[in-house]
Amino acid sequence: MTPYTRSGRGSGSLGLLILLLAAAACGPGEQLPSVVIVTIDSLRADHLHHAGDPRDLSPRLDALAAQATRFSQAGASAPWTTPSVMTLFTGLTPGTHHVDLNDRALAATVPTLAELFRGAGYRTAAIMPALTLADHFGFDRGFDDFIFATQGHSNVSGPWSINHAIEFLRDHRDEPIFLYVHLWDVHYNYNPPVPHSIRFQAGRPAGPGETDDITVLAGPGHDAASLSPERVAWLEGQYAGEILFTDEQVGRLLDELDRLGRTDDTVVVVTADHGEAFLEHRVMGHTVHLYDEMTHVPLLVRWPGQVMAGRIVDEQVGLVDMMPTLLDLVGIPFASQWFEGRNLAPLLRSKRPEEEGPPLLLGTSRQAMKRGLRTPSWSYQVDLVTGEDELYDLVADPGQQENLAIALPREASIWHRRLCKRLAHRLPGGEVGIDPLPADLQEILAAGLRTLGYVSPAGSKGGRQGDPAVERQRILKATGCPVELLPGP
Ligand SMILES: [Zn+2]
Repeated sequence: MTPYTRSGRGSGSLGLLILLLAAAACGPGEQLPSVVIVTIDSLRADHLHHAGDPRDLSPRLDALAAQATRFSQAGASAPWTTPSVMTLFTGLTPGTHHVDLNDRALAATVPTLAELFRGAGYRTAAIMPALTLADHFGFDRGFDDFIFATQGHSNVSGPWSINHAIEFLRDHRDEPIFLYVHLWDVHYNYNPPVPHSIRFQAGRPAGPGETDDITVLAGPGHDAASLSPERVAWLEGQYAGEILFTDEQVGRLLDELDRLGRTDDTVVVVTADHGEAFLEHRVMGHTVHLYDEMTHVPLLVRWPGQVMAGRIVDEQVGLVDMMPTLLDLVGIPFASQWFEGRNLAPLLRSKRPEEEGPPLLLGTSRQAMKRGLRTPSWSYQVDLVTGEDELYDLVADPGQQENLAIALPREASIWHRRLCKRLAHRLPGGEVGIDPLPADLQEILAAGLRTLGYVSPAGSKGGRQGDPAVERQRILKATGCPVELLPGP
């Protein structure tokens, strides 16, 4: 697949609703603030200097954090791109939006972030250098410009994405814009250019293809624990080089906002779709686990004069919260019953103190079937295949190495019931429908995803139900939830 650009202002599936919202959002001549969202693929929260990494990996993001509100406990709902970014775009968890493998598109009834912004008068664009963000899933909905390419350094990289973003900013310098930019480089195979490739490991850049085996190492069934500590450290150094390289690219985008005089009227969000593992729990890469190395992500929100600068918020939040938060920040009306996420705008404006907030729901259906909950203090998860559960005290054991589920059976039981209640919860309007992709398209996407080492869990092909209520019931049963929580007919 080659890069392509599609442009147009289609009517969209929610035209009437959005037109009504647009009428409410702004009056004639009123200037709307712009929004720029940057997601850095596979960037784990603890690898930024301002978040504790001793290395100087992130000077531009550190400077941005000083101007922004930083959420220290932000989480992705899923440990891989497609379900995680769809959560960001819908305010719904993967178990509700259903786009959690390569076999479904987002149901037409679900409003997306870009659709609501376009309906409110924004010029919208997405820069999507990843097959996992293809239009087939519904990621193009609401975008006037959808600029797509398959991933990889040999094809597209940070400069490609940022060049397109800068071009869009310049072309629409006098309009309110909603710009989404995804940056791929930090995702394996870790091929930063010189000098970034030699800065954080033993002074030796990667040779041709030298990191290609990471796709196998991160693939299903591979016990990467046999890797030598030296090899893991070297790969992690390559990953660190990609972070520095990407940090510079984000800096180019921020500089362009300055040059255009748009910094003060633009909400900038920088986050990641998930993290990356380096053998903390016997695996490399992502998709398989719900531990923090795969699900704890950075989250910075900057809006000079409107959002508190330099504030650090330590309560549990997630990408699922961003849709209601951004809509409220810029003044686009919305119905809270559309979303599972919380509106964090009052917190960003510093009108209320921090509170505990609900635990964040985590899950993966790719290469494993797991569901879990996380707060800043506790992490709990259940393997839906084996039935085993794990409970971690994140204060005493932030690396999640000592499973307390057996030693603390009462606490584990409380967390299990809490997880079940969360999994049983449905939107007030009922279940979101499931929109299966045609079989031939599913196979094309699956073939592309296999090149990343992504495969579906055994037995899942063709076995997924098309009825969302039945699917929810299946997940609840696999989680071992009590029968009274199973949804009725
Ligand atoms: Zn990703």
